[in-house]
Amino acid sequence: MSNVATSWVHVPSGSDFPIQNLPYGVFTNERGTRCGVAIGDSVLDLAAAERAGLFAHTDLDADTFFSETLNDFIGQGRAIWIQIRDTITAFLDMGNASAPAFAREHELLVSTPVSMNLPVRVGDYVDFYSSEQHATNLGKMFRPDGDALLPNWKHLPVGYHGRAGTVVVSGTDITRPSGQRLAEGAPVFGPSVRLDIELEVGFITGNANRLGEPLDIASAEDAIFGVCLVNDWSARDIQAWEYVPLGPFLGKSFATTISPWIVPLDALEPFRIPRPIQSPSPLPYLRDDFGRGIGIDLTVGFTPRGSSEETVITETSFTNMYWTMAQQLAHATVNGATVRAGDLFASGTVSGEGVNERGSLIEITWNGAEPMTLSDGSARTFLEDGDSISIRGRCSAEGEVPIGFGDCVGTVIS
Ligand code: CA
Repeated sequence: MSNVATSWVHVPSGSDFPIQNLPYGVFTNERGTRCGVAIGDSVLDLAAAERAGLFAHTDLDADTFFSETLNDFIGQGRAIWIQIRDTITAFLDMGNASAPAFAREHELLVSTPVSMNLPVRVGDYVDFYSSEQHATNLGKMFRPDGDALLPNWKHLPVGYHGRAGTVVVSGTDITRPSGQRLAEGAPVFGPSVRLDIELEVGFITGNANRLGEPLDIASAEDAIFGVCLVNDWSARDIQAWEYVPLGPFLGKSFATTISPWIVPLDALEPFRIPRPIQSPSPLPYLRDDFGRGIGIDLTVGFTPRGSSEETVITETSFTNMYWTMAQQLAHATVNGATVRAGDLFASGTVSGEGVNERGSLIEITWNGAEPMTLSDGSARTFLEDGDSISIRGRCSAEGEVPIGFGDCVGTVIS
C-alpha cells in the first residue's frame, strides 16, 4: 500500500522528514530541553503538545516529554509508541482542519535549526560486525594467507561491548585520541596517525527482557524502538596493537557519533526487504525464516580541512547486511543478558562489493596503500585534523514517500 498522506506543516521537497517519518529527538531552545518530533524544517515540541492535552486520550505517563532524554518514553513500550505515533500522525495530517490553530495557540511548532542533544541516555552499547563484505575485506588485509572469514562468522553475529558513555550526538567535535601503537616493532605513545571512520546503522531498544530470560527471535523486533546512523570512529594503529586477544578497547572507546533523530521502526516498514540467504543455516535460536533487513541508501561525505567542498567517498546500502537486527538482538540476549530502554546496537561497518561501496577508510585505501584523491585535489589515507565526515541515509521504494535520517556529522580536532 502506498502512503500519500501530507501534512499541513510545510515539508520542503526532498526533506528527510515528511509526515511518513516523524523521528524523535531531544532539542534545546529558549524554553529549555525537551523531546520533539521532526516534520519538514520544523520540530513539534512534544512537551508543549503534552501540556496542551494532545496525548490526554493515551496511556502516556505524565510529563514524559519534559525529560531531557527519550528513555522515559521508550521505556513505556511498544503499545505506547504506537498510540503516540498514531496521535501525532493524525494531528499533523493535512485533513486535520483544527490542528493549525491549536498548534499556533499552544506554540507547538518550533523552526529549525535548533540545538540537538543526544536523544537517549545510552546504558549499554554493542557494536556488531555484520557486513560480510566488510569482514571479508578486513580478513584479506590482516590474514592474507588464511580464510578471509573466521570459522564463527556465519554461525553468530560477532560483536563486542563498546563504551556507552562516549556516544555523542552529531555535530560534536572528535578529539584525536592518543595511545600506544607499534612503530618499527616497538610500542610508542602519541596521537593516533591512522584515525578512521566506520559507516554504521544502529537501533535503539526498549526494555526488552528480564535477567536470565532470552528474547525469542520471532518477537525480538518488538523491542526495537527505532533506527539511527552511527559513525564508529576507529584509531587503527591503537586498535592493531591492543586488540589481541580480547578485542577492541581504546582504539574505539574515545567516541561514537549518532544522528540526533531516531526513526521509528514503524516508519521503516515500507522499506523492509528479505534478509540475504544464510548458508549454513544458523542454530535454531537464530533462525528466522521470514527475517527482514531494511533498504537504506547510505553515503559518506568527506570535507577536508580548510575546504568547504565535500566529496562523497562511499555510496552503499544497508541491504548488504548478512545478519538481521532481530538475529543480533536474539544473540545478544541468548545468555540471559538484559536489554534496557535506550540501549544502542550498531550494525558494524556497512560495505558492499565495489571500492566506492566501502564504509571505512581502511578499506577504501586498502590499509593505507592506495590513497584517495578528494574533489579539491587533496589526498588522504586516514583522517587529518580539521577533516569533517558526514554520514547520510535515505529510504525509498516504489510508490512510497522517501524518508531520511538527517546528518551524522563529526569534525576531527587535535
Ligand atoms: Ca564498528
